[in-house]
Amino acid sequence: MAHHTGAIPQKDVKTFAIVTRVPGGRVSPEDLERIASVARNHKVPMVKLTSGQRFMLIGIPEKDLSAVYQDLGHLAEKETAPCVKYVQSCLGTETCRYGVQDSLAVGAVLEEKYRIMPFPAKIKFGVSGCQRCCGESWIRDIGLIGTPKGWTVVFGGNSGRRPSPAALIAENLSTGDALDLVSRLLEYYRKNANPKERTARFLERTGMDRMRSELLTLLPYIPIEAAKQG
Ligand code: SF4
Repeated sequence: MAHHTGAIPQKDVKTFAIVTRVPGGRVSPEDLERIASVARNHKVPMVKLTSGQRFMLIGIPEKDLSAVYQDLGHLAEKETAPCVKYVQSCLGTETCRYGVQDSLAVGAVLEEKYRIMPFPAKIKFGVSGCQRCCGESWIRDIGLIGTPKGWTVVFGGNSGRRPSPAALIAENLSTGDALDLVSRLLEYYRKNANPKERTARFLERTGMDRMRSELLTLLPYIPIEAAKQG
């Protein structure tokens, strides 16, 4: 459980970690200098990249938390209410020669729209610019995968203690339709999930049949047959 400041308690029960918000894992030289300067000035024992493409400053005493947050400024992230932990995006069309969809741009839209929205449990996004799936989309709560025909959207993936690949929800969507589908999936999850129930467990309990009949069959960009059969 996070400290009331949003810092994460460490194994030694004396110190804390603070994570940074660096959307898509993209940082400017100024961001890097700021993180380095905070780590140096506060004698932070360890700085580590997390699997969610964030920096974690580890081993901070409680008395220094407020000053570290202040010095990190816009880079500081607080782990408080269940909400979006991160949007993991690959390089996509911007620089990767295999990219067929702009994963960084879509990841940035998702980050901006959902970053402070509360959910029943934490939400992780994975956005990949092609089917090689470097954004690990199939094991995230919401995954988007670029193909030459548009976006594939998957839901309910998890890589934790009980790993589950996400369920395929729709394929060949425009960016606008993919973002609309993400919004409807998250709203459906928000309304129907139990507190602390991750999307994978929610999907197991609810079942695709119910989600199809209550949500997917109503969406004009999902072919009726696909909505019926998944
Ligand atoms: S998923 Fe595709 S576009 Fe994204 S980094 Fe990997 S190879 Fe490149």
